[in-house]
Amino acid sequence: MSERLALYKGKSKTVYDIGKPSELLVEFRNDATGGNGAKHAVLEEKGRVNCAFDAFIMAMLAENGIKTHWLKKVSDTEIVVRRLDMLPIECIVRNRAAGGICKRLGIERGRVFAPPIFEFFLKDDSLGDPIITEDHIFMMQLASKENLASMKVLTHRVNNILKPFFAKAGFDLVDFKLEFGYYQGELLLGDEFTLDGCRLWDIQSGEIYDKDRFRLDLGDVIQFYKKASTRLGIL
Ligand code: 5GP
Repeated sequence: MSERLALYKGKSKTVYDIGKPSELLVEFRNDATGGNGAKHAVLEEKGRVNCAFDAFIMAMLAENGIKTHWLKKVSDTEIVVRRLDMLPIECIVRNRAAGGICKRLGIERGRVFAPPIFEFFLKDDSLGDPIITEDHIFMMQLASKENLASMKVLTHRVNNILKPFFAKAGFDLVDFKLEFGYYQGELLLGDEFTLDGCRLWDIQSGEIYDKDRFRLDLGDVIQFYKKASTRLGIL
C-alpha cells in the first residue's frame, strides 16, 4: 500500500485514507477493550484472526445477497472497504438471552427467543451506547423510517444466514451486533463481523468462544477465537 493517512482510530481497528474517494483501508489491531474502554489488553494474533474471520463472513454474506462494504483482504490484518457514511446506530439480534438483556430485564441467561429479539442502540461512548427506540431515532433525525426498516430486515436476514452456518459447526449464535452506512445513497452493511461483536457458545458444552472470554476474564481468548475459526473452516 502506498501513502496512507489514519482517519480514525477505534478501539480495535484503524481506518486509513488510501487516496481513493470511494475506498478505505481498515486495519484490525491486537487491541481488546471491554466495559466501554475501561478494560484494555493487547492480545497477540487478535488482528490476524479477526481479519480472517471478518473476511470469511463478509464474503459469505455477499454470496447470500447481503450488500456489504467489504471489497478485499490485502494483508493478514488489513482489508479494503467501500467508504460508507456510517449511521451511529447498532443493530442487535438476540437468539438467546445473555449480557445486556439479562442485566436490563432480569431475564435468565440462556433463555431462547423464538422469534429472535431485535434492538437498536445509539453508538455513543460518552453515553455508554444506550438502547433506543425507533421514535428516539426519528426525533434525533438519525435515519428515515424506510432505512430503519431496512436495517431491521437486513439484520434478521444476516441472522437467518449465519445461525445455521454456525450450527453446522456445533455453535449456537446467541446474539450479534451490526452497523450500517450509506454508499451512494444505498444502505450497506459496514463495520465488522468477528467474535468481538457476537456471542458464540458450543451447542453441547455451552463453552464460550467469543469476546465474553475477555470481558468475563475467562482466559485463553485468542486460543478460543482460533479454535472457533478452525472448526468453521476459516483458519
Ligand atoms: P450486549 O447488549 O448484550 O452487551 O451485546 C449484545 C451483542 O452485541 C453481543 O454479541 C456484543 O458482543 C455485541 N455488542 C454490543 N455492543 C458492542 C460494542 O460496542 N462493540 C462490540 N464489539 N460488540 C458489541
